[in-house]
Amino acid sequence: MNYLSTRNSKIKVTASEAILKGLSDDGGLFVPEKMPKLEKSLRDLSKMSYREVAYEVMSLFLTDYTKEELTSCIDAAYDEKFEVPDIAELHKADNAHFLELWHGKTIAFKDMALSILPHLLTTAARKNNIKDEIVILTATSGDTGKAALAGFADVPGTRIIVFYPKDGVSRVQELQMVTQKGKNTKVIAIKGNFDDAQNGVKEMFNDRELAAKLSAKGLRFSSANSINIGRLVPQIVYYVWAYVQLLAKGEVKEGEKINITVPTGNFGNILAAYYAKQIGLPVNKLICASNDNKVLYDFFKTGTYDRNREFILTTSPSMDILISSNLERLIYHSTGNDAEKCAELMKELKEEGKYSVTSDMRERMADFCGGFATQKEVSEVISKIYKNDNYVIDTHTAVGAWVAEKYREETGDNTATVIASTASPYKFSRAVVGAIEGKDLSREDDFILIEKLKKLSSLPIPSAIREIMNAKILHDTVCDKKAMKEQVEKTLGL
Ligand SMILES: *Cc1c(COP(=O)(O)O)cnc(C)c1O
Repeated sequence: MNYLSTRNSKIKVTASEAILKGLSDDGGLFVPEKMPKLEKSLRDLSKMSYREVAYEVMSLFLTDYTKEELTSCIDAAYDEKFEVPDIAELHKADNAHFLELWHGKTIAFKDMALSILPHLLTTAARKNNIKDEIVILTATSGDTGKAALAGFADVPGTRIIVFYPKDGVSRVQELQMVTQKGKNTKVIAIKGNFDDAQNGVKEMFNDRELAAKLSAKGLRFSSANSINIGRLVPQIVYYVWAYVQLLAKGEVKEGEKINITVPTGNFGNILAAYYAKQIGLPVNKLICASNDNKVLYDFFKTGTYDRNREFILTTSPSMDILISSNLERLIYHSTGNDAEKCAELMKELKEEGKYSVTSDMRERMADFCGGFATQKEVSEVISKIYKNDNYVIDTHTAVGAWVAEKYREETGDNTATVIASTASPYKFSRAVVGAIEGKDLSREDDFILIEKLKKLSSLPIPSAIREIMNAKILHDTVCDKKAMKEQVEKTLGL
């Protein structure tokens, strides 16, 4: 199976090439030429381990990897790095099934994909006879950065540079990044927001002159951002996994549809759920949950995507995004895979900051609906679920929980619901403890809050948190958002 650019149907690459490139040369994203279908029955899948399900799903998409190659990538990724043997676990609370995707090394769902991406990427380089060193260039709203750093640190043949918005991440997120070890790692804060960081990275990817300089030095860029299909494909796995776990537990009958609610930022995680539906998973609605930066909610409601609005810093920083890059893939599919039309809309987005889709396109997106939660609502739902179910969720997951409940109330749709639980509450303990105690804790010390959360939740403190408590700060570069390229040239000695 090949991959096509969302902006030019003549650009066609293999899966391993798509993983190496990240972004297509024309600025488009790679999409599968046609959707494969699950080959095993859901019942058969329900008897398999996470790794076996991962193989069944990923082999449908990464067809130029041999069985040995793919199996060894999967085995290297989904091992004891995860603190639970099932890799992703379901927890029943508040009328829903929370799919806990945060038992990996950096306690956010990004680990699910970023623990395998370095293996997929270095295998892809080998397969394509690439001798260049691969430079991973990444913009992060908080969680990708650390998960990518942890995945790529000291991986031979790679270097990694991460940009994050100086005042746009939580203290724990920042500490996790700036204490990162590894000779091949570099972390840079920018004076700007996540969209600035992401735009800066995108520009560097499209900069021919910079590419030539890299090439002369035996280097080439690749992306660990959620636009890379090497991240998207591993994310499809856990939706299939969740379904077959529900089946195994008798929570659903084989073939019975479920709803999936995803707290959304860059639209990667929910797009993976959409792809899971496309390959045959019985899914009814895909519920896209936004925080106060509700550009996606407005889009699904009106058909107009408009990023011209105030950027709001919230208690769910990993979702503080106004340009959801992966939406481009849904736009492409909803045009009936018309790259020209998709390119036109993306040009409008770049030039005017907005675009509108046709009613035909909206019909093709009817699987999706949107909702949003304000910061007050996020606090309310954290506190409610804690009191009723003695279960603590983080602020991002809480956006999902609020929206799932609102959806149920408003539509009367009582379909079994999976909510993607995207981070450990320990990653956002200030807002989480504040919500439970009903207090403003903005001045409280982070590590006191972590101890408090431990008492409240009876969840053990994850090793990811214990590690940063005494770690040395190893990265302290801060730059202007216009100086990102300069920083990259300096870091790489160009
Ligand atoms: C990245 C992230 C999200 C948003 O996921 P997208 O794939 O960007 O939509 C939600 N919650 C957490 C904790 C995250 O790290």
